[in-house]
Amino acid sequence: MKKGCPACNKEKIFAFSEELIGTRYKANVEKVETIGTTDLYKCSGCNTDYFKEKNMYNKLTKNSKELLVEFYNRHLVLNEKLRKQIDQIGITDDWNSDKLIPAKIELNNGMIHDFARIRISKNPPMGYYFDLFETVIYIDEVKSINQSEFSLSKEVRDKSKNAEELRMSFYPTVLQTADKRKIVINSLTLFFDFQNIKGSELSLANEFWDFKNDKYIYATETLKEILVIVKE
Ligand SMILES: [Zn+2]
Repeated sequence: MKKGCPACNKEKIFAFSEELIGTRYKANVEKVETIGTTDLYKCSGCNTDYFKEKNMYNKLTKNSKELLVEFYNRHLVLNEKLRKQIDQIGITDDWNSDKLIPAKIELNNGMIHDFARIRISKNPPMGYYFDLFETVIYIDEVKSINQSEFSLSKEVRDKSKNAEELRMSFYPTVLQTADKRKIVINSLTLFFDFQNIKGSELSLANEFWDFKNDKYIYATETLKEILVIVKE
């Protein structure tokens, strides 16, 4: 058995199961705090912070601790006006039953974002995925929600969510522009902005991805989406 937790042992893992404490790691990971419904733990050996999800200890980043505190301390439920604006755009459920809406938003301070990923969830945004967003906005900072010219239609988003895996980590959906150029997106996608093609110009091509077709346009740029936090 190793002395200390995975982080004490300089192992590059983000999460480990509760069963490993006492079987693989002789570590002292103890509950220090509960924020909302999330229990936070600390390893007494290296002071690494963890939160527990089901039976897994996940490393708590600085970012996620702040997100967690804000999630429970702020008023993040949609008001009637914003709810109506969201209904106009349409909601796509992701695999965790979180509700996602691609939008253009205007903040109370006048700033405008064209690539806003609105996430409505009962659960706080915890984990490494949420650290990918450089900018996080809370819904109480938002004045209005509108259709973004870069967002894909609900029909396209829903279809891309259910796409089959045809190559390793590749879940293609074929889209088309009005002049019949073919675009391939991978997995659940909310926005498109590549080679002057905007998401709102795209519709389903209703064809299967053909690996021999070299006319397809594949978006290779990563979009600068910002995350907007809403509590369900
Ligand atoms: Zn440790």
